[in-house]
Amino acid sequence: MVERLRDHYRIGDARVLEAMRAVPRHLFVPEALQARAYGDHALPIAANQTISQPFIVARMTELLELDDRSRVLEIGAGSGYQTAVLSKIAAQVFAIERIPELARESQALIRRLEIYNATIKCFDGTRGWSAYAPYDGILVAAGGPNVPEPLLAQLKVGGRLVLPVGERREAQTLIRVLRTEKGFEREDHGACAFVPLIVHHGWSSQT
Ligand code: SAH
Repeated sequence: MVERLRDHYRIGDARVLEAMRAVPRHLFVPEALQARAYGDHALPIAANQTISQPFIVARMTELLELDDRSRVLEIGAGSGYQTAVLSKIAAQVFAIERIPELARESQALIRRLEIYNATIKCFDGTRGWSAYAPYDGILVAAGGPNVPEPLLAQLKVGGRLVLPVGERREAQTLIRVLRTEKGFEREDHGACAFVPLIVHHGWSSQT
């Protein structure tokens, strides 16, 4: 998996490749799918959600440009896999998941893997997590129609927000927002497809 990320997908950040080598991805997928855990695809997890394709996890992590002093906010922890990868690079990871079952299981799993610099809590992540703001990096693993305003407010000057934005699941773009002294700069990083971001500043659950 790591060779494919490096040679085919051109992930160049050694810290990202090392983190993805270190985290046992098969423990984050349902038992019946473990043989496919290192394949080049997303997989279903509990509650109709998905664990992201390894390339997307690597690309989003790389775009955050983290180091061992960084404090990171993650929205949509799901299986906890992305949380675990971030925890290997950053100083602290605060992760939010809106489905209680997923939040409980992913929190238990990262502790079992002896990851102590990450916490997964259950609430609506579109409001961010103001108690630990501002963040050096914010990653959103679910797609909504716009960039949630509270997340911009919780980004440090010099920090980076990486998220999928788009009107439809089939038509989302991976966006990076950089916060500078002067304001916000937005970059496009290509097409992507994520499960929907639910509530307040994202889609409503009826759509
Ligand atoms: N990085 C995760 C991706 C999980 S899919 C992994 O690789 O396993 C995205 C997750 O975002 C889902 O679990 C979904 O429940 C969650 N989600 C959607 N809207 C959310 C919101 N408003 N707040 C917190 N989590 C949300």
